Amino acid sequence: MTIRRTLPGLAVGALVMSLSLALSAGPATTASAEARVPAAPAVSEQQVMPHLRALQRIADRNGGNRAHGTKGYAQSVAYVKSALDRAGFRTRLVPFTHDGAPGNNLIADWPGGDPDHVLLTGAHLDSVKEGPGINDNGSGSAAVLATALQVAESGLTPERHLRFAWWGAEEQGLIGSESYVSKLSGADRRRIDVYLNFDQAGSRNTRQWLVVHDDEHGETEAQQAFEAWFAERSIPTFDIGVGGSDHESFGNAGIPSSGFSTGISDCIHEACDNLANVDPKTETTSTDAIVGVLWKLAATAPRH
Ligand code: ZN
Repeated sequence: MTIRRTLPGLAVGALVMSLSLALSAGPATTASAEARVPAAPAVSEQQVMPHLRALQRIADRNGGNRAHGTKGYAQSVAYVKSALDRAGFRTRLVPFTHDGAPGNNLIADWPGGDPDHVLLTGAHLDSVKEGPGINDNGSGSAAVLATALQVAESGLTPERHLRFAWWGAEEQGLIGSESYVSKLSGADRRRIDVYLNFDQAGSRNTRQWLVVHDDEHGETEAQQAFEAWFAERSIPTFDIGVGGSDHESFGNAGIPSSGFSTGISDCIHEACDNLANVDPKTETTSTDAIVGVLWKLAATAPRH
């Protein structure tokens, strides 16, 4: 990952936070456009960590990993899919073959919203063969799943259409996402307003969230929304470029992207990338940020 520039720490963050707390404590008194945006719900550790524990158990009973072509990957997909199905998503498995082994991307659509303006949020669900891949990338997968389930629980009625994706065979070279993007028509590509990618969302000792800056499209509204979300909480961010994970497949096709990572851990691609390699607080903050930004973007009437 390339670090582009450092954002200054915001001394006004605490003030902004207490102001927004004061505002959210009472009923809205103004009829501004922003007042129509429903407040994003706060995410608790209990909404996201159980998914990571489930992925760890799946790895434990399948030889210690959840890699492409293994039962560990197939069971990871089945776990996420059944949670989404129960919540009312329209899910589908999109198969591909790589290295002589079948793989699947899991796509989940939340009914409603403008189909010509899609917000696509995704993470890779596979691990390497060397380990369970709980931070890389159970953490991103669990954060996106918890976000999707929060959409369902809140009964969100977005202006834009919300689609969620879990990619296969990222660790083999972005195979699943590349397969998905390659099958999109030109019109389908243009319907995706932005792709949001989350790869390693619960790294220990996280000090800054690394927010994806799309060089080709400039500062996207998604990047701005993430940076604003973190700044309001006095959490430092760095900008990083598009690349090194599934957003690269979208970038190569000219589709705008953003998202974030909490950085590479010492245990990346090793057996020690287990539950203990994830900081529950960081994982919860990451999920909270995704929910906050998704709520904001989902409620923004798309530009035609
Ligand atoms: Zn990864």
